[in-house]
Amino acid sequence: MNSTELLVDFFRGVARQGPGGDAETKRALELAGLDRSRPLRIADLGCGTGSSALVLASELDATLTAVDIFPPFLEDLRARARDCGVEDRITTVAGSMDSLPFQDSEFDVIWSEGAIYNVGFANGIRSWSRFLKPGGVLVVSEITWLGSRRPQELQSYWEWEYPEIDTTSSKMRVLEQHGYTPCAYFVLPDRCWLDNYYHPLKETFGSFLERHGDSDQARAIVEAQEREMGLYEKYGAYYGYAVYVARKAL
Ligand code: SAH
Repeated sequence: MNSTELLVDFFRGVARQGPGGDAETKRALELAGLDRSRPLRIADLGCGTGSSALVLASELDATLTAVDIFPPFLEDLRARARDCGVEDRITTVAGSMDSLPFQDSEFDVIWSEGAIYNVGFANGIRSWSRFLKPGGVLVVSEITWLGSRRPQELQSYWEWEYPEIDTTSSKMRVLEQHGYTPCAYFVLPDRCWLDNYYHPLKETFGSFLERHGDSDQARAIVEAQEREMGLYEKYGAYYGYAVYVARKAL
């Protein structure tokens, strides 16, 4: 297995690949204030194994296009969609969120939880805008500094991992600069990181290492994840995932 296949194997064993929760997806949906009088077209970008797509497909009269770069995640998403009885509402597309095969103004909603960092926040919201109808809604979660002060150890770690990490007010400004009107945001509660993401992932470390013969590569993945989790346990008050709801200008 190469390093990408190992990472996919690592994250495939859990229900979600980033912080979040069904209740928080529903909360964002309420804040989005969608016109539910007609069927909606929604793109879920960086969908992973489907944590948000399954909620959206169950809650709404909508057709979803779920995009992820790794086909094994999409395979799991389709199996989960069958189990939930929503498979006829979800189409999966294997591809990169920075070269999407969509038409202009194709979607009422673009949704992306815990994934835009892969292409960068400003780049993502800029390049996705054309696929939204005028007045369409963007819901995107992004790692965000909470407040203006933070410990140096934490700052250095995240600026290395993701230089675009910034405060909520800066993210709002970036949305405005790219033709969106921010409508709402909220910060995911701790349990979205701990109960819904880190703890289930931690449970799989042993079996993951065993499957891969305790290889150096597999151990490096686990160790990197443990470092990220340790920092959250220590400094979680200083940063979080914020969910931003914004409307594309008419
Ligand atoms: N939305 C899911 C997954 C978040 S993890 C959840 O909240 O659980 C980030 C996801 O982005 C992973 O599934 C990863 O495979 C996907 N990804 C990474 N780079 C990508 C790219 N360039 N284009 C599309 N998907 C990408």
